[in-house]
Amino acid sequence: MKAVRFHAHGGADVLRYEEIPEPLAGPGEALVRVRACALNHLDLWQRRGLERVKIPFPHISGADVAGEVEYSPDGEFAPGRRVMLQPGLSCGRCAACLDGRDNECPKYDVLGYRSDGGYAEYVRVPVQNLIAIPDAISFIEAAAFPLAFLTAWHMLITRARLRAGDDVLVLGAGSGVGQAAIQVAWRHGARVFATAGADEKLAKARQLGAYEVINHETEDLPARVREFTNGRGVDVVVEHVGTATWDRSLKCLVRGGRLVTCGATSGHDASIDLRVLFTRQLSLLGSYMGRKAELLRATQFLFAGELRPVVDRTYPLAEAAEAHRRLESRQSFGKIVLVV
Ligand SMILES: [Zn+2]
Repeated sequence: MKAVRFHAHGGADVLRYEEIPEPLAGPGEALVRVRACALNHLDLWQRRGLERVKIPFPHISGADVAGEVEYSPDGEFAPGRRVMLQPGLSCGRCAACLDGRDNECPKYDVLGYRSDGGYAEYVRVPVQNLIAIPDAISFIEAAAFPLAFLTAWHMLITRARLRAGDDVLVLGAGSGVGQAAIQVAWRHGARVFATAGADEKLAKARQLGAYEVINHETEDLPARVREFTNGRGVDVVVEHVGTATWDRSLKCLVRGGRLVTCGATSGHDASIDLRVLFTRQLSLLGSYMGRKAELLRATQFLFAGELRPVVDRTYPLAEAAEAHRRLESRQSFGKIVLVV
């Protein structure tokens, strides 16, 4: 089969389009013919190299996959069945898994992180990671959905316990998580404020449901948030930027507000004045991926047309390096998808 792999860490040019043997499905695993695979920031971190996680070489990235079942154990899914893949891999047997908190499993992993992922014509996954999709959902949309919407759902609904009427600030509206968080919050009755670094991105954020938008490059973010909320501040901040926005994000919170973070694309160093934390009674919440049951619930909104992943651009699999450069350029709005 054709696959895109890297044999060493580095820039986008380490990605090689090459011919390799097809994977073999092991016990309990299905083999899926990949039709689309969306990019995530995780793919960039893996390619560049991580301090704490050793990536096996050669490596195939790709957590967000849609395609057709080639083989499934006991024929549970008919060959040709259209599916998207749950990106989370967990043991299924520990206390966290059995309690439905599979993203807290000690063995938790993401497809294409330490295992081979979807930048290939075929991928093998545990059969429980298959989710059948209706014909009305394209492979490209299905691939653009799971990781971003699962992450946004877990952040807002489970971690931050979003309630109708909450004011929510979403940073980086053009990112995968940003566009998903705007939609998830709006669908749950929140009033959404969104930021971006370019005016054309702000216009798109409004179309997704943002009530007011703020250019975080040119405007004073906390001042604008106070203005829009009658001096109150927001109940929830959706953070994934890190160092560059951390201080300003904290200043946007109302007393008792919750900041939930799932990433640190601009850097992972941040500090907080503990007096602010306790006197303002803030909650700082970490969030990583989400639960399988949450993704199943979110897909009901996708299938009903109430959540729609925004697709920035598609590239053929052979042009994965170009796709990585697009993601790194920060020009994109929404998901970048490889068509296989
Ligand atoms: Zn487990």
